[in-house]
Amino acid sequence: MKFEKALEYTNKIYRFLRRLNSEGTSLPGKYLRKFYPNFLKKAQTYVSSYKFSVTGTNGKTTTSGILAQILKEAGNSVIHNELGANMPNGIMCAIALGLYQNYKKNSKLECVDNLVIESDEAYLSHIFREMEFDYLLVTNLFRDQLDRYGELDITKKKIQEGIALNPYLKLVLNADDPSLYDIDKNIPNDKIGYAKRRESIYFGFESVEFCDFDDKSNSPSEVIYCPICKSPLKYSKRFYSHLGIWSCDCKTKRPELDVSARVKVFRNYSILDVSYKNKNIMYKVNLSGLYNAYNALGAIACAYTTGIDRKIIAKALENYRPVFGRAQNENIDGREVSIYLIKNPTGACEVLRGLKNIDANLMIAINDKYADGRDVSWLWDVDFEILKDFRGKIFISGNRCDDMALRLKYAGVSLGNMVIDKDVKKTFDFATQSMQRGEKLVVLPTYTALLDLNKILKNKVRRF
Ligand SMILES: [Zn+2]
Repeated sequence: MKFEKALEYTNKIYRFLRRLNSEGTSLPGKYLRKFYPNFLKKAQTYVSSYKFSVTGTNGKTTTSGILAQILKEAGNSVIHNELGANMPNGIMCAIALGLYQNYKKNSKLECVDNLVIESDEAYLSHIFREMEFDYLLVTNLFRDQLDRYGELDITKKKIQEGIALNPYLKLVLNADDPSLYDIDKNIPNDKIGYAKRRESIYFGFESVEFCDFDDKSNSPSEVIYCPICKSPLKYSKRFYSHLGIWSCDCKTKRPELDVSARVKVFRNYSILDVSYKNKNIMYKVNLSGLYNAYNALGAIACAYTTGIDRKIIAKALENYRPVFGRAQNENIDGREVSIYLIKNPTGACEVLRGLKNIDANLMIAINDKYADGRDVSWLWDVDFEILKDFRGKIFISGNRCDDMALRLKYAGVSLGNMVIDKDVKKTFDFATQSMQRGEKLVVLPTYTALLDLNKILKNKVRRF
């Protein structure tokens, strides 16, 4: 089949599914693979400049979103899987839709400037086998959906398998995460032979200050052993979970930072003082949480290495709007609804840290479908004890609502404060209807519960 026809068919299938109220990108991708088996190989010839990939446990969607925004602000045309469909079929579908738009706009297929692709850690090598990228940014490695991926080491190996396939890939790495320390080392490659170490760019924080709220974090620490000699690591500063300024008696230590920053974290935003090549620039990031400051810093590091002007980066950070479920705010009939996806202990703990002492009601929706991870035991590693003195109502939903309610009961939340119902739509409607105008609802859904919410909100939302 002709390449342009394959794009057109993919677009048709996607539109058709959307009319059926399905946001699916996996099915169109599956068909595309049939129409055009080497789709990614061909598609990459239509990207004229840098191709970026982003992987890691937490923060992929926000990091790649900020990076895409910076590239667009710099005047580039960008294809990006912005809705977070990060498995191979979803990625192929997003690229096909982007190229189809370009084809329609120009009445012939022209090159786009950049590609920004977030990829699930486990599937990185599927994408890298067919497409050569210029950069791979790795955000962090936390324990995530153990039943699907196994231990952290397995995830790391999967990422390394991907790196081995792309000989000229530059890595942009979070230096504060010791589990990424040797991810770029000792990777053999057929084309360039045995490279001892890839060219890597490191980013990280020198200091973190929490300004207008309690900074106590009880996020679980997973990797605390030296990546080389396996002794326990020492930290001169520990920012959250296992991220910080780390070292070991064997002289292994956090790599020198190419892009370093000092950050002041406020409840709804952060101020980053970023240092690169002996120049300091301040940036404001309009997202809550230290984890989002890390996401922004990763994107900034990527942009710096490709030579993008600092003013453009600042403007992009100002204009960046989070995608659905990533610290996003909606207005439902005068009630403010904030949605934060939760999917693993570290991410959930960091979200909860920002909720301490806030005046709001809370809805937690826990599903255990494939994309969520079937095992919900991670709920026991989340510091829900923070909610012990929570003053608002807590609405609990999703097919594992009973597990969640039990977890909260053990955390010291009184049963009288909870409303429990499996049905996400019913619970969401009840929660918003029982609130006064001007009141706030914070929603913490797992991934498939977030998709349910997306459908529910589609017709109700008026964006801020
Ligand atoms: Zn060591």
